Amino acid sequence: MRLTYCSYFHEFKHPFGVSSNTRKNTPVVFVKIEKDGLSGFGEACLPAYLGETVEQTNRFLEKVKIVLPHLSDLPCVQDLLDRIDLLDEGHNAAKAAMDMALNDLFSKIAGKPFYEWIGTQKPQPRATSFTIGIDSEEKLIQKIQEAEKFSILKIKAGTKDDKALIELVRKHTTKPLYVDANQAWTDKYQVLDLISMMKENGVLLVEQAMPVNMKADMRWVTERSVLPTIADESVKRLIDLENLEEAFSGINIKLMKCTGLNEAIKMIAFAKKKNIQIMLGCMAESSCATTAMAHLMASADFIDLDAPELYTNDPFSGLRYEKGLIQVSDGIGLGVQAKDEMLPF
Ligand code: MG
Repeated sequence: MRLTYCSYFHEFKHPFGVSSNTRKNTPVVFVKIEKDGLSGFGEACLPAYLGETVEQTNRFLEKVKIVLPHLSDLPCVQDLLDRIDLLDEGHNAAKAAMDMALNDLFSKIAGKPFYEWIGTQKPQPRATSFTIGIDSEEKLIQKIQEAEKFSILKIKAGTKDDKALIELVRKHTTKPLYVDANQAWTDKYQVLDLISMMKENGVLLVEQAMPVNMKADMRWVTERSVLPTIADESVKRLIDLENLEEAFSGINIKLMKCTGLNEAIKMIAFAKKKNIQIMLGCMAESSCATTAMAHLMASADFIDLDAPELYTNDPFSGLRYEKGLIQVSDGIGLGVQAKDEMLPF
């Protein structure tokens, strides 16, 4: 097996604002693993708040490159991933890139689409939410209009007045909404009041209402909330989910947080057992990583896989958005194709 990788920037159509910052692009590292004339692709998407940089990711991948030829005899992808996971703590996005590339490669070697290779049916087309970042009133209206083909909007909250934000959005669309506060709300009584107001305004769920370190308050809110409360920043890997202690009623699983498809599948199984709702989400990923995640759509209550629609220079093709519904292809492996002219492998 031969590993190569290259870095890239995803350029947003509009500067992307969340409660803590606004950015114009997102650094990414793509990986390619070649074996027997076939190639598997993966992606490490690195928004700054995740705390993983391109340099750290490249250093980690160099370590993987050295050990990979010695791991060729391991019987399955999970064994390979376990060894890669043990190379160093953290580097979750880099590990996710390796997970995707190995799963893509080995399902291609088996001649099957990934969903079939893991023993599941082809996922039915599903509606995804489309994210509207924090912005001026004028831009917000423009973005709502541009999201015409999507049937659910995800509103980034954490503004000075989130009730006013929802009232403004409601003037321009009747679509159901998800709201993501990105940890911005800190008073549990106010949070409960905001959630009630949002339910009355057609909001279906509230994501990461409070800071990660306010777990007890978040549990208090979840016990009383009239809407599902979804953990995002509070749950990265399976271990965090096992320690959730009913602080949230659902979780947003993202490949970049959880180290990839294999761990995502374990998290889905755990969540189902505990009646925890499942959202499949993404960072500002290309069609490479979002397509990988779309293979697991059948297991989810909520889908938030809109990233390739948020920027201008997707270097992969894969999933398609038809009338706002995500369709996974029948191609072998993950069903993604690299646009070679865009990627300096
Ligand atoms: Mg979120």
